[in-house]
Amino acid sequence: MKHRANSLTWDSTAEVVKLLNAPPKRIALLIHINPDGDALGSALGLSKLLSNMGHECLVISPNDFPDFLRWMPGVPEICLLSEAFPKAEEFMRTAELIFVVDCNELKRIIRLQEVYNAATAYKILIDHHPGPDLYVDCMLSDTSVSSTAELVYRFIMETGIQRFADRDVATCLLTGIMTDTGCFSHNSSRRKTFETVASLLDYGIDKDAIYNRIYNNYSEKRMHLLGFSLHEKMEVLNGYHTAIISLTRDELNAFNFQVGDTEGFVNYPLSIKGIRFSVLFVENGDRIRISLRSKGSFAVNEIARKHFNGGGHNNASGGESFDTMDETISRFKSLIPDYKVELSKYED
Ligand code: 5GP
Ligand code: MN
Repeated sequence: MKHRANSLTWDSTAEVVKLLNAPPKRIALLIHINPDGDALGSALGLSKLLSNMGHECLVISPNDFPDFLRWMPGVPEICLLSEAFPKAEEFMRTAELIFVVDCNELKRIIRLQEVYNAATAYKILIDHHPGPDLYVDCMLSDTSVSSTAELVYRFIMETGIQRFADRDVATCLLTGIMTDTGCFSHNSSRRKTFETVASLLDYGIDKDAIYNRIYNNYSEKRMHLLGFSLHEKMEVLNGYHTAIISLTRDELNAFNFQVGDTEGFVNYPLSIKGIRFSVLFVENGDRIRISLRSKGSFAVNEIARKHFNGGGHNNASGGESFDTMDETISRFKSLIPDYKVELSKYED
C-alpha cells in the first residue's frame, strides 16, 4: 500500500482535484462482493457526479445485488463481473482513474485482483472499514463516519466538485447513509452525519419515499421466511447474551428464496432485552455465510476475522465457513465461552 492516511492530505487533494478537472477521463468504480446499499449508493452517487463532469464512468460489481436496491439511479449501467468480465477487464486496463469504495481489502473484489494490480490508473480508496489493506495512490479512510456514502460527500466537498451533484447523486448517497446506519439506529450519533443528510435533502429528494423503496418493498414469501426464522430457527444461548439463527438451503428453497431476502434478519434478535450479540448462518452454495451484529462495545469483527475468514466493523461484520451448517454452529458454540466475560460486561 502506498498511502495510509485518515484524510486526504493537502498534496493528494490538489493532485486529485487536478485529475478530476482535467479533460474527460475513463474512471472505474469498484465495490465489494455482495454489495449493500452503502457500496452501491457510494459508487453510483460518485459515478453520476463524475459523469456530470464529463467523465466516462463504469461501476463494476463482482456479483448481483438484492432487488430492493434495483430502483437506484444508475443501476442498469452497472457492469456485473459475473456477466461481463471481459468488459470490466478492458475498462480497467484503459482507465486513468480507479476508485475503490466501501471496500478495505482486495480479496473482496474477488476476480478483479490481478487486473487491479496490473492497472496503471491512479487509484483512490474511499472507505470507512478498519484496517484498509490495498495499494492505492490516495486514500480517504475514516472509521468514525456512519458510512462510505458520508465519506463520498466529504470527498466531493473537499475536492470542490459539488456543483456537479444533482438529485440522483443525493438519492444514492442518502441511500448509503440510511442503509449503513439501519435508518439512523446505529453508528449515527455524530452531528456531521445529520449535517450531510440535511445538505442532501437540499437537492429536493424525498427521504420518506427512499425509505419506502428500501424497507417497505418485500415479497410475501420473504415475510414468511422472516417469521419462520424467528419462530422456528432462532436460538438464544443462555448465559451469553447471544442469539443465533441458521437457515439451510432446503429451508430457503421452501420460501422461494431470492438474493437479499435474509438481509436484516440478523438485527432482529438484538431487539430482545439482554441480547448483545446476534449471528445469522445462511447456507450459500459451498459455504455458510455468516453475519455478526452486536450492541454496545462488544466487537464482532475480531470474531469474524479470527474464526470465520472475515471482518468488518465493531458492531457489524461478516465471514464464512466451509464446514457443514451443523459443524459451523458447533464450532461457534464451542468458541462463545471464550467471550463470556466480555459479553457480560455491558449494560443494556
Ligand atoms: P453482512 O453481514 O451484511 O454481510 O456484512 C456486515 C459488514 O461486514 C459489512 O460492513 C461488510 O462490509 C463486512 N463484511 C462482510 N463480510 C466480510 C468479509 O468477508 N470480510 C470483511 N473484511 N468484511 C466483511
Ligand atoms: Mn459501508
